[in-house]
Amino acid sequence: MSNDNKSIHEFDINLICEYFSGVERQGPGSAEMTVKALSFTENLNNESLIADLGCGTGSQTITLAQNAPGQITAIDLFPAFIERLNLNVNKLNLQDRIQGVVGSMDNLPFQEASLDLIWSEGAIYNIGFEKGLKYWKKFLKTGGYVAVTEASWFTGNRPAEIEKFWMDAYPEIDTIPNKVACIQESGYIPVAAFILPEYCWTKNFYVPQAAAQKDFLEKYKDNAMAASLIRNEMHEARLYDKYKAFYGYVFYIGKKI
Ligand code: SAM
Repeated sequence: MSNDNKSIHEFDINLICEYFSGVERQGPGSAEMTVKALSFTENLNNESLIADLGCGTGSQTITLAQNAPGQITAIDLFPAFIERLNLNVNKLNLQDRIQGVVGSMDNLPFQEASLDLIWSEGAIYNIGFEKGLKYWKKFLKTGGYVAVTEASWFTGNRPAEIEKFWMDAYPEIDTIPNKVACIQESGYIPVAAFILPEYCWTKNFYVPQAAAQKDFLEKYKDNAMAASLIRNEMHEARLYDKYKAFYGYVFYIGKKI
């Protein structure tokens, strides 16, 4: 099987949006892990302001609304994802709790020190872990929380193939202790760090994609970019299966000092 080994950024953005709009999640995760991460935060109430950055179609946004009080502003760069999120929000009658907004996580529309909680699953990498933590901090109240998932190494050394893949894709990937130190150095108390279980990648992320890939390839039969996008996703899934002992997503929760 050929491997183009392209960065996701090299694909046509509309194709990516269409492909990922067809699946419930745009990154590894689960409702159970969202609720577990939420359990490390305190003091949320009906007046609390929460931001979900890089929300995608909003799977975790809805879990947040169903398990925490407060108003949630869900932000994503891509209008197609926000449209899908708004449809789901309306279906579940959560429009009084969740506002979907098109925008960028590096240019937030909030007042300084106004947020109680900043959430971001599988998305902070878009601006970088350290940059995101430092920039977002000013929008949190003192004592507010940040909760993010981030690709992390589980071991000090890794096989060359997976090391190269991640260094090409996201060189800021690092070990859990180094990520925790970065949280502390960015002005937060590291409250918790836990590894997402394997099913967050397999059952919840790669398996639903396998079904979507068939339909997508059918629709874009003669489109080389579409074929390449799918090959890329399949390659990533195979790498995960082969090297899951060495890396994964970690939920990090920090409290602003
Ligand atoms: N949180 C969702 C989830 O876990 O299913 C989506 C994760 S997906 C891997 C990353 C998301 O970040 C995508 O929805 C993408 O559109 C969004 N994104 C990329 N760059 C962004 C930016 N600068 N500002 C806001 N969202 C961005």
